[in-house]
Amino acid sequence: NEEPAAPLSKKEMKRARRMYPQPLVSFKELRSRYKISSRLAENVAGQGFTVPTEVQLGSLPLMLGDPSVSTAEISEPDLLVVAPTGSGKSLSFLIPVINKIVRHHHSQSEEHGILSVIVAPTKELASQIVNEGRKLVAGTGVKITLMRKGMRVVERSDDGETNVLEEEAEESAGSEDEDEEDDKPKKSQNNAPVTKSDILVTTPLMLVNSLSANQTKPLAHLPLVRSLVLDEADVLLDPLFREQTLDIWRSCVHPDLRVSLWSATMGSNVEDLTRSTIKERLENIEQKSTT
Ligand code: ADP
Repeated sequence: NEEPAAPLSKKEMKRARRMYPQPLVSFKELRSRYKISSRLAENVAGQGFTVPTEVQLGSLPLMLGDPSVSTAEISEPDLLVVAPTGSGKSLSFLIPVINKIVRHHHSQSEEHGILSVIVAPTKELASQIVNEGRKLVAGTGVKITLMRKGMRVVERSDDGETNVLEEEAEESAGSEDEDEEDDKPKKSQNNAPVTKSDILVTTPLMLVNSLSANQTKPLAHLPLVRSLVLDEADVLLDPLFREQTLDIWRSCVHPDLRVSLWSATMGSNVEDLTRSTIKERLENIEQKSTT
């Protein structure tokens, strides 16, 4: 006769709740439970969706992290999400990414520049993500930009540590997909227009080309990036894009970087990377705890 399991202590319950947060039953909970920015919550409501999709109700609580934890120590984990195409994955990563940047802006940080990078395998997909993102950032002060031909990521240190997007002058004039929400672009030292953006949405090749402008390896760093989103991660980890995708990951050197991988299939490429990443993280934790 086995003893019945002892009920969980309060501390254990709290830990379990953190590891497996309750699913999001309604978009209203984004505000009431996760305290996301009120303007962002309004923008989500404005989309007119009645209930979160399956992938949204599971991943949003994990991506948003424990609401009781302060800004400085946001607790969201690295994440691998597998769900079919068309199931609403974009909203699942855009809401948390935008909310984190609103919090960052409110924290009066001296850091300005690219805080989040979203990588997608095709320009069409990247463009769709930007269109969806634009509806969500309206009025929040967050800027989302599609990486375009003729744009380069450059470091500037004139007003705090920052990465801005510099455009080749002739490309920007009358360019058809001009970023409508941009303020009037400022000029850089070489007179090229400069765009400040918080979120950069890009294909792997465009960003890698920009970060390796002078053929350096490893690539230039993206020192402020806290959220790296790999959309269609199964494709991004295929041989065609794999090295570029991993190079971008290596460029995101901030210690608080959180990576999320979104995929329609759980291929061995995704699984292997997830396993090796988890192993590496665990080894790091073990090393820290023994030193
Ligand atoms: P995925 O990235 O998984 O392929 P998308 O994020 O592109 O899917 O979403 C597919 C479509 O579903 C989009 O048109 C989006 O506006 C819509 N959508 C997203 N969330 C919801 C929801 N909760 N209810 C209804 N439609 C939604």
